[in-house]
Order: sequence, then structure tokens, then C-alpha cells
Amino acid sequence: MNMKIDKDLKKNIKDVSEKCGGYLTTNLYDENRGTLPSWDSIRSKYNINFSELLAELNIKSKDEYLMQRNKVKAISNFKLLNLEFGFVSKKIYDDSKLQPSSEYISKHYGWNEIAKEANVRLAHGQYIDLNDVIEQLKETIKKLGYIPTSTEYKELQLKPSQDSLAAKNITWTDAMKKAGYRPYGKAVIVKDKVCFNEDCYRQFTPIDESEKHCDPCYKHLRSILIKELKQMNKAKLEEVCTKLIYLGNSQKNILDIFNSN
Ligand SMILES: [Zn+2]
Repeated sequence: MNMKIDKDLKKNIKDVSEKCGGYLTTNLYDENRGTLPSWDSIRSKYNINFSELLAELNIKSKDEYLMQRNKVKAISNFKLLNLEFGFVSKKIYDDSKLQPSSEYISKHYGWNEIAKEANVRLAHGQYIDLNDVIEQLKETIKKLGYIPTSTEYKELQLKPSQDSLAAKNITWTDAMKKAGYRPYGKAVIVKDKVCFNEDCYRQFTPIDESEKHCDPCYKHLRSILIKELKQMNKAKLEEVCTKLIYLGNSQKNILDIFNSN
């Protein structure tokens, strides 16, 4: 049976650990104990080993301490590299000669886990998880501006590649659905577009080729234009009406009128 360690002694040992930077080894303790009893005398008096003592006092061992401290360092390194390069790869990390090493990070925490915690992008072809691949697909299609067929997607060599999707065990069709798009599933004459509005990812079937906005975004812009009519003078109103009569009220014409104001 262990004898209960005196409360004051407990507090004093904890103080020593704080003086040593938040962790303790037997050597560190003995070098910094001052007038406190030596580790040997504590061990024989309480019949306790060092790791039991650390656990009892809730003090970190050197390994635990280093693990925690290096994790903070690794996350901060990832963030810095991401700022500099826009993404993180093992090559960039190794070339920067940072500590802890990439090997240490992979072994102790997992490379992807640190990327996730640091909220950084990994290099092309290295996706953190399925959500990451889906997120990239969503952005790629948004940039493309329309919904391609699976074959077209492959031919355009867009990223994430269908191989990257396969590596995450998902088909292109299912990934598109998860990204919020509706793949065709059959031949179509008119390809769907993705709304031109920066924050909008809505897919729509354009009535004519010049349409750029989805219905809700277009309706919103139109309602602003209608409000603007109230402030227009006679000459401006006449100009707007003339354009509408000659050019028609297609989305493109309405937006041209809108933008010329
Ligand atoms: Zn929209």
C-alpha cells in the first residue's frame, strides 16, 4: 500500500515541475528540488515509482510534454508555410528544415491530422479527407462555370482528378452530388451553368446562352433595378424603355441596363 503523499510536498513537487518548464524527470527533480527530499528518499518512503508520482500529481513526463509542445510547433509551422506558399507539402516542409521533422509529425500525430488542425491546404493531389476533395470539386466546377459531363471533366484534366476521387472511394457522380451539383445522367442539349454571382453555387439551365445568373440572384438584381427606376429622370427612363423595346428584356439586356446605371 502506498502511503499518502503529504499535501505540502505534493504542492512543492508541482512547483519544481513548473520551474522546469511544465514537466519532470528524476534528474530534473533532483537538480531543482532545493531543500525538498531527494527522489530516492521519496521513492523509498512512499513506495512509489516516478511515473506513478507524475500521474498522481498530474505532471507531464518529458515525452508527454515534448509531444504536446512539438504539436503546437508543427501546427504553427504548417500555418507559416501555408501563408508563404499557399499550401503545404512534405517537400516544402523538409526543404524549410523545420522542427519537429516531417517524419516525427507523420509518426506521432499524422500529417493530415496536423493539416486539419492548422486548417491549411495540402499540395495538389494530397487531399486531407473526403470533405476536402468535395470542397475542391465544388470550387473547380464553380470556376469552370458550367456542369461538364464526366468524360468532359476527365478530358479537361480538372482537379481533383477522377483518380483522386477513386482513392477516396467515391465516384465522380456521387462526388458531384455531394458538392451540391446535379450531374446529367443522360445526354443533354443545353448544358447547365453555375451562377455567376461570387457567393452563389446554384446550378441552373439557361434559357439562352447569354444567361449568367441563377433565377433567385437575377430576381434580386431586377428588384434593385426597379427601385432605381423611381429616381430616374425622364430622359434616362426613355433610354431604358427604348433599349427594352429594341433589344428585348432578356437577362443579358436587363443586366446591361443595370450595369450602365
Ligand atoms: Zn445565384
